[in-house]
Amino acid sequence: MKFGNSPSEWRHLLPRPGPDSHKHVRGRLGVVSGGALSTGAARLSARAGLRVGAGLVKVFCPPDAAPVLPPSLEAVMLASFATPEQLQALADPMDAVVIGPAAGLVESTALNLAALARTGAALVVDADALTLFRDRPEQLFAWLDRDDVLTPHEGEFERLFPGLLAAEGREGAAQEAARLAGAIVVLKGAATVIAAPDGRLAVNGDGSPWLATAGSGDVLAGMIGGLIAQHMDSFDAARAAVWIHSEAARRFGPGLISEDLPQGLPAVLADLL
Ligand code: AMP
Ligand code: MG
Repeated sequence: MKFGNSPSEWRHLLPRPGPDSHKHVRGRLGVVSGGALSTGAARLSARAGLRVGAGLVKVFCPPDAAPVLPPSLEAVMLASFATPEQLQALADPMDAVVIGPAAGLVESTALNLAALARTGAALVVDADALTLFRDRPEQLFAWLDRDDVLTPHEGEFERLFPGLLAAEGREGAAQEAARLAGAIVVLKGAATVIAAPDGRLAVNGDGSPWLATAGSGDVLAGMIGGLIAQHMDSFDAARAAVWIHSEAARRFGPGLISEDLPQGLPAVLADLL
């Protein structure tokens, strides 16, 4: 079934806090950081998750990154892990976890993903955590649940699903990819296609070209995770996040860098909630 992607389609589904809300009820989001030289992506995802309303955001980092992260992450909790088992224990209480941005194309990223898949948290899988499986996508797909979300740009998509774009076009390819992966697929680009394994499909046609800047995908991953953490359906969370992300970029306009996006989200949300 094909959905539109204007706010009228999902506005009533966006989470909003009630009088009895507290931070745990408002959704717990985890973000897995890369090492000491690669913490920016996790910062962007974490800020975006907070700005879309997740009550509590925690960054999980390798020990070498711990001294680098705190100064610019006042509202974000931090926990370091040395093994996948430790990551699993930290992630277990979370509602959603983002993994992949600047995670590194190293086997530990795969082991961390496997550990997260053993928790009850919904996963948003992006960037390196997609590319790492280019020669063994079935392994990734076997770990995914239907409420998990893959967020490839075209390059990452082509690595996981070689030839599918050329054969099926963007909409058909995203639908087939969602079926193969057994998870939501967000095929990013000027027009972003969101497909679910049950056949739901949406296209966000009014993407802002100002989003073509380093780190904007990391912000989107955090937004999707932040909405899912607040118990929004993963397909609805993905299409709402894609639209809100584009709208924040459109309003900012020239000179946008990814750091500007999280702080631009409240103004967009204020017109929706
Ligand atoms: P990434 O490549 O992972 O950093 O993600 C880039 C983000 O920016 C995605 O959400 C894309 O949909 C969006 N984006 C990139 N280029 C464009 C463009 N030319 N027009 C609209 N959106 C874009
Ligand atoms: Mg990216």
